[in-house]
Amino acid sequence: MTETKPILPGATLGLMGGGQLGRMFAQAAAAMGYRVAVLEPQHDAPAAEVSAEHIEAPYNDADGLDRLAERCPCATTEFENVPADSLRRLAAKGTLTAPPAHAVAVTQDRNVEKHFVESVAGVPVAPHCAVLSEKDVALVDEALFPGILKTARLGYDGKGQYRVKNRDELLQAFRNTNGVECVFEKMLPLKLELSVIVCRSLSGETKTFPAAENHHRNGILAMSVLPARVPEAVAEEARAHAMRIADALEYVGVLCVEFFLLEDDTLLVNELAPRPHNSGHATIDACVTSQYEEQVRAMTGMPLGDTTRHSCAVMLNVLGDEWFDAEGRFRDPDWRAVLAVPGAKLHLYGKKEARRARKMGHVTCVAPTLDEAFERARAVARILGLPDPE
Ligand code: ATP
Ligand code: MG
Repeated sequence: MTETKPILPGATLGLMGGGQLGRMFAQAAAAMGYRVAVLEPQHDAPAAEVSAEHIEAPYNDADGLDRLAERCPCATTEFENVPADSLRRLAAKGTLTAPPAHAVAVTQDRNVEKHFVESVAGVPVAPHCAVLSEKDVALVDEALFPGILKTARLGYDGKGQYRVKNRDELLQAFRNTNGVECVFEKMLPLKLELSVIVCRSLSGETKTFPAAENHHRNGILAMSVLPARVPEAVAEEARAHAMRIADALEYVGVLCVEFFLLEDDTLLVNELAPRPHNSGHATIDACVTSQYEEQVRAMTGMPLGDTTRHSCAVMLNVLGDEWFDAEGRFRDPDWRAVLAVPGAKLHLYGKKEARRARKMGHVTCVAPTLDEAFERARAVARILGLPDPE
């Protein structure tokens, strides 16, 4: 455990990546009096708009990284595919990175990640095996069928995944990936998907947010419910698992642990995200401290904040699809009507162009009870033309 001097408000915090997660991080940092310098190649990125400085450079650009390091005593990332080497370069220049490069490296490869979670942290994952070459297809245990082949690296929102029934289909799917390294997982009967946001400080203190319940549409998170509608024992087990993983990784910062809850209430880890997460957006409006503020506190060596949930929340993701009416005509959603719903909190990411399947914003509906939060979410969903949340 290290006891370091905290980095005080007024300092500039480094941010790798300019998407919406970075934007909400920058907003939380600014609220506490920090400046943010974002390294992001895209000119009008969501996080750049709300940051004090924008270094327009690729994520692995040596000069850009050195400029970031000069300004920032500490830096973080908003996406997991930031090159671990970039974080190492920042660290070598004396910038503390939270998360540390070694933890990000583990989460960048599904095979390495599963091995770590199961064998090092001692937390169960889905039955699986690595498929690194065509030869491995023949060696896959029959008991893993039907299953899902996932590319080991760079997948998100269900991209790079193939559902297969048998070995022939698996071989075909593997060839479709152009032979990149994959993991093959048994298809499991899921009752629910949960996630826990855990935050670990430089001194090794950990705090978890209440478990959230997540529902996807077309492979993209559509709705997140806080707290998850599961028995208290299940939620507590998930929080304990998340803490074990953060400790085992010697993590610093905010980590999201995604879980599968099976029909028999078995809890398995699906995957890790070494950053704030879409399923944690509701913490902004429903908890004393948000996941973004927690990231600021952790990386600056400040005490972690209170993760207590003061409201119930239903978070609806708003995709670019909501800009198209039933006839496919483009028009702005009726934000005035959305904001007229009691407890509805609108978050838009400032993206210039609404495209289908693009995450444009979210609406969190808070209320004293989940029933009321759902009632409000249903009202918002009707306005936006989304399916009824339930
Ligand atoms: P995201 O970016 O949304 O986290 P991803 O591309 O990283 O997604 P996963 O989280 O691995 O992919 O899988 C996407 C979804 O597919 C899961 O949320 C779950 O609904 C389903 N899924 C994945 N693996 C399994 C499995 N082994 N059994 C049943 N369903 C699964
Ligand atoms: Mg996932």
